Amino acid sequence: MTDRLYYSDPYLRTFDATVLRSEERGGHRVVTLDRTAFYPTSGGQPFDIGTLGGLRVVEVADEEDGTIAHFVDTGSNPAPAAGETVHGEIDWLRRFDHMQQHTGQHVLSAAIVSICRARTVSFHLGAAVSTIDLDRELSAAEIAAAETEANRIVWENRPVAIRFVTSEEAATLPLRKEPARGGTLRLIDVEGFDLSACGGTHVARSGAIGIIAVASWERFKGGQRIEFLCGGRALDRLRSQRDRPTPRIRSAPWRGSRRSWRSSALASWRQPQSASMGYRWCCALSMPMRTV
Ligand SMILES: [Zn+2]
Repeated sequence: MTDRLYYSDPYLRTFDATVLRSEERGGHRVVTLDRTAFYPTSGGQPFDIGTLGGLRVVEVADEEDGTIAHFVDTGSNPAPAAGETVHGEIDWLRRFDHMQQHTGQHVLSAAIVSICRARTVSFHLGAAVSTIDLDRELSAAEIAAAETEANRIVWENRPVAIRFVTSEEAATLPLRKEPARGGTLRLIDVEGFDLSACGGTHVARSGAIGIIAVASWERFKGGQRIEFLCGGRALDRLRSQRDRPTPRIRSAPWRGSRRSWRSSALASWRQPQSASMGYRWCCALSMPMRTV
């Protein structure tokens, strides 16, 4: 078994560990440790990258025996040997982005339950965008209402606690979703709003999510797939819309084209969009706009 340091401290960026196994597998060096802060792909959240003993960690995966495999790019360097102590460093920008998206998903899914009575059946955290699949289709107005509720929870900056309970204790608690397994369960508790069994890495307070923005939605398998962005990804999307020149902007001076610039940026930000959503993003966009 590998001691999963991220279970109790998702903010741990560096650690020291002892190498249990070090072997060649499929053209890669696979290193197993007694403890690790590296998150392996699971529960919709992708693996961490970083360095181990100065070597690049390019993938991290769960092994069937309960250990965690670190796939390491050794290049021409010697591989870490069993018994050696190695220093690990997580790529924090990638990890924190995953924490924002994953906690944001818990809050958005819980808001959709409380406002719309629709359940999240799956979650995928992608490289650019994340999606949740719902068991029914929501209207644009329902999505806007759930989005507003989710951001209320973000801005209230509620504590997000990690709790460990037995499956018997869990059965007495108001979990959003029935746990898929028994034994000791790790719960993520967004104070007074959501309680879910989850092995992922999460921010310590909801305010660190920053913002939760639904970017688009479509019919999917009898329900609905919702694409959303949290925190830094939402800012990146706004910046890409703001900084992308459009033919209309090129043909008109800033002073006279502000209104049309806003509407063209909004149209490409969210498809489909409602009038109320457009207004809100219009306000958000007005802040970073160039003024003349
Ligand atoms: Zn989760």
